[in-house]
Order: sequence, then structure tokens, then C-alpha cells
Amino acid sequence: MALMPRGQTPRQPTRTGRQDRVARAPSPAASAPKKPRGSKAKPVGKPALDRPGSGTRAPIAKVKKGKAYNPLAPDRIAEILKRLDQLYPDVKCALTHTSAWELLVATILSAQSTDVNVNRVTPELFRKYPTVEAFAALTPEQLEPDVRSTGFFRNKSKSVVGAAKKLVADFGGQVPLNMNDLLTLPGVARKTANVVLGSWFKIAEGVVVDTHVHRISRRLELTTQNDPQKIEQDLMRVIPREKWILFSHQIIWHGRKLCIARKPKCVDCPLENICHAADKTWSTVDMHKNAKA
Ligand code: SF4
Repeated sequence: MALMPRGQTPRQPTRTGRQDRVARAPSPAASAPKKPRGSKAKPVGKPALDRPGSGTRAPIAKVKKGKAYNPLAPDRIAEILKRLDQLYPDVKCALTHTSAWELLVATILSAQSTDVNVNRVTPELFRKYPTVEAFAALTPEQLEPDVRSTGFFRNKSKSVVGAAKKLVADFGGQVPLNMNDLLTLPGVARKTANVVLGSWFKIAEGVVVDTHVHRISRRLELTTQNDPQKIEQDLMRVIPREKWILFSHQIIWHGRKLCIARKPKCVDCPLENICHAADKTWSTVDMHKNAKA
């Protein structure tokens, strides 16, 4: 046993159990080159889906921990509206019409049909019956052949003729300018009333909730509801009133062009990095199970 030189004491273990100044294998993090202060970390994580044709995988930007994600946060809503304005700056109702009455009829006929289909039928329809009174003089059966191609033609004929008769009997043949009176017309619910009030009279009484607005509002997590009236209430709470009319036109166009029901064209969508819909076809962000069509 080697003797310690006089005046020296043997080394004792430290309280932590680690010996002082013992060289340890560097951890991978410690050995990585340090980033300069203030530089942003690149998003990492598993990619959701591949960008078609690119052969590369897009990184997913994770929702930051610490601050709870709020899909209804005012700055997120403002960003959605801003991007919709850039995408669809001047969109209007796609149904061909020259009066409130024609728009009312076209909207009734558009249920479960396409605007293109309705626009094929209405020019001849309004040439044949040019006034509300002309429609009011018909029986539903007489109108059926003229609207047959729009589908559900028996119910639609009943609604159009019923609405015309009611307008002539109670409103002097004029389409009323308020929601309550419009809702007394046969075949007219809030969606049709909102279309007429918003698109013709420019009165923002509510938000049009058709199939596109229903689907996209859920995808964008502006609502979790399925009932059109509840969806409308949710949208009226988060969308500023002065945007109600334009917002529904923009969303309807978005639903036709990009955010289509079966395979939304997410790769081309300017809302992509703020959309977390569960059924996205391509994504750079986390998808949320509540946000779906
Ligand atoms: S990213 Fe996709 S699902 Fe989301 S709004 Fe755009 S098209 Fe629709």
C-alpha cells in the first residue's frame, strides 16, 4: 500500500455522490453546437401527410405548450377573415336574380341542388311567370314541371306557390324586409331569409348557414354544433356583424373552390396553417379531432 505524503489528506466522496472534476461523457445536447441567442427553432415533429408530388415530408408545427389553444381567439378569427378577404375580395351570391322575389324563389329551389342547376331553370321560369302575382295564380302541380330538374320538385312547388300567395295576401306582393315576416312564408327558414335580407336588402340579420358554411365552420373550429341554427348563433358570436354577409359568401365560395366536402384541397388553401381540421388532406399543423366536417 502506497503511503500518502505527509500533510495531505485523502479525497472524500462529495455529498452528491459524484466526484469533483470527474470527466463525464458529453450528452448529445451538450455537444450540439449552440444557437446564437434569439434564433428561432425550426419546427420539428412527425409530418402528417405528404405534399402531393413533392416526395418530401412537411414538418408539423406543434401547438406551443403553456398557452392553451383557443380556436375562437380574436386574433385567429381576424386572421381567418383577413385571408378570406384576400382570397375572395368581391364575391356575391351565385344565384341569378333581378329582384328580391326572384332571389327568394331561386334560394328555395337551391335546397339539395346546385346553383348551376338552379340558374339553368330560373331564366325561363321568370320569363314564363314574371311577377309574384303570376306565381300566386298557379297551383303547385302547375309549377312542378318547370322546377322538376332541381329535385324535390313537389315540395319546392308547394313552397314557391305558397310563398307567392302569402305575399299577395298579406304583404301587397312585396318581399318583406324583416326576418319575422319572412319566416311566415311557406318554405322559408332562416337560411333563405338571411340570403334575401343580406344579398338583396344588405341587411345583416344573421349568417347564412348552408351546407358549405356548416362544413367549413366545423373544420375551422368556429363551432362544434351540427344544428344550423346553433351554428348560426356561434358564428354571430365570433364574426363581427359588419362581416356577416360577406363572410357567408366567402365561405360558400371557399367550399366550392377549395374546401370541398370529400377531398378538400388543403395543399392549395391559404388557411392551411391555421386550420386543424381532422379530415385535412395535407397538413403542416396538428389536426384536432373536434374540427371536422
Ligand atoms: S386547410 Fe383544408 S380543411 Fe382547412 S380550410 Fe383549407 S381546404 Fe378546408
